[in-house]
Amino acid sequence: MDINSVNQRIEFLKSELNGHNYKYYVLNEPSVSDFEYDGLMEELIELERQYPQFADSLSPTQRIGDDRNQEFVQREHRIVMYSLGNTYNREEVIDFDNRLRKLIEGPVEYACELKYDGAAISLTYEHGRLIRAITRGDGVRGDDVTANVKTIRSIPLTIQADACPALFEIRGEIILLRDVFNTLNEDRILDGEAPFANPRNAASGTLKMQNSSLVARRKLDCFLYSLAGEDLPCPTHSQNLAWARSLGFKIPSYLEVYQNIDGVLSFIDRWKDARKKLPFDTDGIVIKVDSLAQQNALGFTAKSPRWAMAYKFPPDQAETRLVSVDFQVGRTGAVTPVANLEPVLLAGTTVKRASLHNADQIQLLDLHIGDYVTIEKGGEIIPKIIAVNLSKRDLFTKPVEFISKCPECGTELTRDPGEAKHYCPNEEFCPPQIKGKIEHFISRKAMNIDSAGSETVGQLFQAKLLNSVADLYELTYEQLINQDRFADKSASNLITAIDESKKIQFERVLYALGIRYVGETVAKKLARAMGSIETIMNASKEQLMSIDEIGDRIADSIISFFSLEKNRQLIQKLQKHGLQFSQEIGENARQIQLLTGKSVVISGTFSRFSREKLKELVEKYGGKNVSSVSSKTSFILAGENMGPEKLKKARDLSIPLIGEDEFINLLCL
Ligand code: NAD
Repeated sequence: MDINSVNQRIEFLKSELNGHNYKYYVLNEPSVSDFEYDGLMEELIELERQYPQFADSLSPTQRIGDDRNQEFVQREHRIVMYSLGNTYNREEVIDFDNRLRKLIEGPVEYACELKYDGAAISLTYEHGRLIRAITRGDGVRGDDVTANVKTIRSIPLTIQADACPALFEIRGEIILLRDVFNTLNEDRILDGEAPFANPRNAASGTLKMQNSSLVARRKLDCFLYSLAGEDLPCPTHSQNLAWARSLGFKIPSYLEVYQNIDGVLSFIDRWKDARKKLPFDTDGIVIKVDSLAQQNALGFTAKSPRWAMAYKFPPDQAETRLVSVDFQVGRTGAVTPVANLEPVLLAGTTVKRASLHNADQIQLLDLHIGDYVTIEKGGEIIPKIIAVNLSKRDLFTKPVEFISKCPECGTELTRDPGEAKHYCPNEEFCPPQIKGKIEHFISRKAMNIDSAGSETVGQLFQAKLLNSVADLYELTYEQLINQDRFADKSASNLITAIDESKKIQFERVLYALGIRYVGETVAKKLARAMGSIETIMNASKEQLMSIDEIGDRIADSIISFFSLEKNRQLIQKLQKHGLQFSQEIGENARQIQLLTGKSVVISGTFSRFSREKLKELVEKYGGKNVSSVSSKTSFILAGENMGPEKLKKARDLSIPLIGEDEFINLLCL
């Protein structure tokens, strides 16, 4: 490679890795496997080593992956939180041992632990009480997620104060058990939300939610694996962990101490397959020098300790042949390509299908029908094609072409700028979209018409009896009894269930409508805050966004749904059939709930209302007046000449300022 190409490649790798870091740490939606990511990182490390003239202190090789976002207060770590050097190669584990033995005199012992796959957290206790939980962030500053972490039952909120130092810090990994993760994903699918790719993304996404009561419901767990500080009670890492366990911390018992590297390699071999039977995900093992004195002597690089490393288990991969590609249309019209493969055994299951995500992915792989492809299962739900074996490509293969028309209804597909997915816009007549919407409408958490399933919906759609959710309410016993597979009991059960659904509460009817991004929780919040469909249909974006959990994207989606005449007509029809379109809540509930749970600081002078009147309004609409700005403040009602200290604090803590007019609009006064 000439020097220009080296430079270009380095720049390319830096930008790719930065992009992947953002998707992984901030969005919790990685688009490549860890193995692919680590391959790119290794290439960049090697190029920067060979060509030191291109070294850059801002390169991703020099920085700890940053999980911070703008929604939390950030705090500095008392002691930097490092990442870990890693390898997929046993030889490099032996090299690590050889390197250390040259640097340290005397025997070296290694503590081996499992590498828990979740999100790193640092917990600080003051006089025995948990006062702070901070994510790793960039290692120096992390997000303060204390309120969320306090909901995790396995984390003690208090420990015996006289048994530990006055200020005490312990670190670990927030995880989701696989069972809990599977249930969470089942619920998300039922709610029409995208499932999480793996427990790590789910754990780390949950940790960054704004509503702690929702976090509590997600049942996070936490495994602790190190103590941070200078004056720890014991001389070795393993003894310190045993001490922390005696205080009541959840320290997993998978730790072993070995006197030599052969022991470490046997630990790796032992867990290679055994880890799959554990109830949580591990992505490798962590090897640490056990003696704290030796750890101190070895110190740190810019990114990781010299006294520890991670050995990662390579993902399960297999090679097979691509037979064909199907294009599936979902209830929202999104088109997803799915690869049909020659069946192959991978990680204990026979795999026949793999995900292809979207057109870009197909193009990136330059995929041909008949190609031999590598598929990988790295914790994701369905495996993914990660590479094409070009050396086996023959003359008969044909490039995979992304369809331009809907495979179900023939409509030209659309793709919005910035959107990865193609959509079929023919919402009204495209069969899988119609059937998908009806299936969602009748689902358990929506209208709970459980005597019909997708087969029945398909059959009644075929028979032209069902074409929209409103048709359900015009079905008669006579029509059903004349259909195949219907008998007296099943026909009358379905009619009864449809009739019963008219009593279903408004918030579930709202969810059943299948408005994009309006899942079960959002529907609840919306219905409870606004009280009736008319209020929601006529609400401004600002009014919608004043409701907890409703942001820009959801508000736009609601407005766009109700801007369509056909959706308004659908509501009218359903109203005529007697469905619930208002919530039985008390007088003024809509307004009262607008500020529920919000802490408001009023500062400055106002022109339309007196400060006393504004305080009264905050209380009347369910909010709480507080005098000083803190991380718990929801917003500041800011007038002219607001106090400079309050202003500074609000900026530091990123607390929104709302002017008098905006406030009055918010309350629809
Ligand atoms: P890492 O996850 O490889 O290792 C460091 C982390 O391991 C620590 O921060 C700690 O939280 C955790 N850990 C778990 N068990 C531990 C134990 N017993 N003792 C000590 N630490 C333990 O490193 P990282 O910096 O968090 O992330 C980098 C890795 O993340 C990459 O190597 C890559 O695999 C993955 N990544 C993937 C993508 C992607 O797009 N797929 C993007 C960025 C990072």
